[in-house]
Amino acid sequence: MDIFEESCRVTDSTETKAIILSKKYIIEMADKLDMKEDEVEKFLKAFTDFGSILYMPQYDSIKDIVIVNILEFTQYLNKLYYPQTEESYAHNLLKYGIISESSVKGIFCKYPDICAENFMEVLTTIAMASKIKSGQSVLIDQKPLQPEVHYYLPLARIREVYTPPEKEDDYAFIEIESVNFPANVQACISNSIMKNKDAVLIATEHNNVSRFLFQSESGPPIEIEMIYKGSKTRLRIMNSSNDILMSPATVEACKKVITGSCRCLKSKINVIRDLKYSFAVPCASPEGGCHFLYNDREPQLCDACSTENNFRLCWSKAAKQCDLLSEGSGARTSENDLLNFQDISGIITGKYDFEALKKALNIDKSDFPDLSSPGDEDSKKKELMLMLLLWEKRTDKPTRHALIDKLKENGCDDIAEKLKNTSIAY
Ligand SMILES: [Zn+2]
Repeated sequence: MDIFEESCRVTDSTETKAIILSKKYIIEMADKLDMKEDEVEKFLKAFTDFGSILYMPQYDSIKDIVIVNILEFTQYLNKLYYPQTEESYAHNLLKYGIISESSVKGIFCKYPDICAENFMEVLTTIAMASKIKSGQSVLIDQKPLQPEVHYYLPLARIREVYTPPEKEDDYAFIEIESVNFPANVQACISNSIMKNKDAVLIATEHNNVSRFLFQSESGPPIEIEMIYKGSKTRLRIMNSSNDILMSPATVEACKKVITGSCRCLKSKINVIRDLKYSFAVPCASPEGGCHFLYNDREPQLCDACSTENNFRLCWSKAAKQCDLLSEGSGARTSENDLLNFQDISGIITGKYDFEALKKALNIDKSDFPDLSSPGDEDSKKKELMLMLLLWEKRTDKPTRHALIDKLKENGCDDIAEKLKNTSIAY
């Protein structure tokens, strides 16, 4: 603890205790106490485990800073998220989740500016805030803000979540499977998207909605909305008239959204085990289901889905142009392996929808002349086994992925889930 007492004593000269210190500074102080650098590293990790400091070297952008006063840190977090309504920045923050860098520095007025910057760097890294290089890239009521750095804190907005109607199917979606993905996918994805020069954040009030405008030199301006809801984040092209859907600018904008999302998710793969994600569009046929989008494969949209110009085509073209999507799918490599015996035996169950499964595996009467909906559980298991083996034999590349897609597209989600989970075990 000597180091921190020492550092506090040093910073006491400015009448404040430090919240965040640079690691370099800590190493310098440690050197005076004859501690070596690797000892400092162990020390920081140990004290992080005790919860007395916060050092997160797993995140590249903040590996050089240490939060040495967690209580003070959370108090400032509170000040930022629950501003006094008389503060000048409170209105835009509570309504739109937007605050300027100078306002943040105002909150930290008793500290040097670097403290506010480091504080926001931490929030951006842990996906609570997005950094926006200039207020010119933010529109509130169609007007841009001052050209200084701004921050977008989606969860600071007080307006409750927007629940889209169940019936809608005019969107693409990102499905993220992970035991504990940090709550704020929105902030993380927005941060990546806003790195595009032509991207503009359109301020919105619901705290699970973010909207982006892309202005290309040719082509019309394209607006894309992101609605965050549990493991599925919807992406929708706004004002999707025929003109918009036919414009290459739309595919370009979709590509920026997919790329931004992949960049965000890839940065999380280092810190979250088992993070898996995929992009898909809901199927237009009455049976429902969805089509997954790939970088390296045709999306296999069904007849109901592939009319000439539609949003599904825009998203699938965009997915095909996004190299990061194929890298990101590294997280699901095992699904691209061919099915093996464990996969098949692992998903045998007597509880499934016989007709749906027959359809999923494209099996008809001529394949099994005596095939009828079997009664008892044992014969259901046998039939399932036979159908899977037949599908495997008849499919060009019978990968786990292909089977999972087929099952999901036809509403056999339970078996698809089971197969996925067996794949994770490899
Ligand atoms: Zn379809």
